[in-house]
Amino acid sequence: MVLLWFPVHAAKVWLRQWDVPFELTGWGMAGIGALVLSVLVAIVGRFLRKRTLLSAGVLWGVLLLAALFVSLGHLLAFASLWQLHFPLLLTMGCLCLTWGILRRWALLFWGPFMAVELLQFIGFHQYGSRINSLVLAETFEASMEEAMAYLTPLNLVLMVPLLLLVLLFIWLQLRFLSKCTRAELLNTGLLFCGLCGLFASCLRPAGQTVNYYWPACEVPELVKAVTEALTINEATINQVEGLPSPADKHSSLATLSGKEGVVLVLHIGESIRADRMSINGYERLTTPFLATCGSLLINFPTCISAACDTCQAQIAILTNGRRNINDKSPGMQPTVGSVIDLFAKHDFGVYSFFGRRCAQKLKYDRVVQLLTRRSAARFNAPGYPWTSIEQMQGVLAENSGKNLFFFVNNEGSHTPFNHYDRENPPFTPTTPDFQNPAAQAEEVNNAYDNTIHYTDEFFRRVAALLKGRPFVYVYVSDHGEFLGHDGRWGRGFLGQHPGLYHATDGCKVGMFVLYSPEFAALHPHFADALEQLRRNSTLTVAHEHIFHTLLGLFSLKTPYYDKALDLTSPAVQPYAGPHPPCREN
Ligand SMILES: [Zn+2]
Repeated sequence: MVLLWFPVHAAKVWLRQWDVPFELTGWGMAGIGALVLSVLVAIVGRFLRKRTLLSAGVLWGVLLLAALFVSLGHLLAFASLWQLHFPLLLTMGCLCLTWGILRRWALLFWGPFMAVELLQFIGFHQYGSRINSLVLAETFEASMEEAMAYLTPLNLVLMVPLLLLVLLFIWLQLRFLSKCTRAELLNTGLLFCGLCGLFASCLRPAGQTVNYYWPACEVPELVKAVTEALTINEATINQVEGLPSPADKHSSLATLSGKEGVVLVLHIGESIRADRMSINGYERLTTPFLATCGSLLINFPTCISAACDTCQAQIAILTNGRRNINDKSPGMQPTVGSVIDLFAKHDFGVYSFFGRRCAQKLKYDRVVQLLTRRSAARFNAPGYPWTSIEQMQGVLAENSGKNLFFFVNNEGSHTPFNHYDRENPPFTPTTPDFQNPAAQAEEVNNAYDNTIHYTDEFFRRVAALLKGRPFVYVYVSDHGEFLGHDGRWGRGFLGQHPGLYHATDGCKVGMFVLYSPEFAALHPHFADALEQLRRNSTLTVAHEHIFHTLLGLFSLKTPYYDKALDLTSPAVQPYAGPHPPCREN
């Protein structure tokens, strides 16, 4: 120790005298330790006539491999060029150490690791996001269709060089390292890791970033991202699973006897920004049908979405939760499950109509299944959303006098915006390609507007189907979308800037209530409630209001009801949670 302390202390004093930005840390000491050990092993090896360091030829090979690894696999390798030797040394060290310990089995680590790092490279340059827990959580719950949106011709073509590169890495490792002895590999690995530890940790800690230590820093990062993504999914599912049903407590419904043939449609829309609907002043006619509905339409121009994530928004809409479920402030978490359970309890036949989603085995699917568990039947609409209209028609024909609850949740305006009339798009030129939206801003924006126009046609067809029946159609979108708004595209960036969502108009979503004259005439309470709803439509409302408004509209009495959140009540309080400041026109 004394032998070690003296040169280190001397170096410290010497460095201080020149005022260079170096400072020996614990890691620096460890680096020196590894170096000294390596040199001692080399000296002992020499006495025993055993090689303990790689030959010059193999060293050049390892350097070449490390240079290839770092330049192609390390996303931020060239961010600060003067630090490039750190990842180089560490990669050489890690290669030697893993081969020294695992021999050829080391390829089981390096092959998949390089594939992931190359994928990260491709993903970052196209979509601007590294693999983090939110990206992974979204990937786990992506539908086949969403996943297919990323299987573009360019990405498929890029898979070929990716695969070839991984094979090249494997071949080079076999070529250079398979014939070396364990002693050579371990001792050389120690030497390189020691050098890196010494150099890197001599820097003042404030000047360092974790990126210098690739690939060693990357493995725990990836493991953390996967565990966090699984925890996000698990935590959400567990929370919803653990909620009691509101149907478990006493409740009563005085407005209906069960034989009126009322149809309540709750349509949770997908990705519709309020400012892109013509009923909210958008200059393009994206909602021509709604524009003709006159006094039967109650529009809410300022509705704040609870979360930028579909699953969380659905929880806030259907349960008594008031915010993003990660918001742990008092009173904001859901204490009870889906409002649909209550309508099912009071003799509404519940039917759910989804889009063509499939393969959503994780968060979204399980959560929406739980929230709509009282459905008598669930329908998917492969192909066109119009398939739901035929399915609804069948249900209506079989249940002419029965009260019905239709839950609708189809693809709507979700990226990559490919649900619209392709033969006759109202807004052109148009492309649903979300590969590089900024480069095709006009086409992608047109595609988005086309999807809203298409959804408006869906409203028209459902309303036509229900004509003559007492119906009320409640529509609310789950979250907004960014199409160059605030300089952003998509929603992936919100993973890194979660607070940004409620600071932008991206959190203002489409919401309206449409009803038939037969519904208003059915019971004096309905007429009064609708009038009050209209009076409250200029307020800033939010997802948190839907649960209580549905109860208030039908005068469904339950201990979970809160009149301060019921938009059909004069006692309602506007939304007071985070939302963007009002903009001057
Ligand atoms: Zn969504």
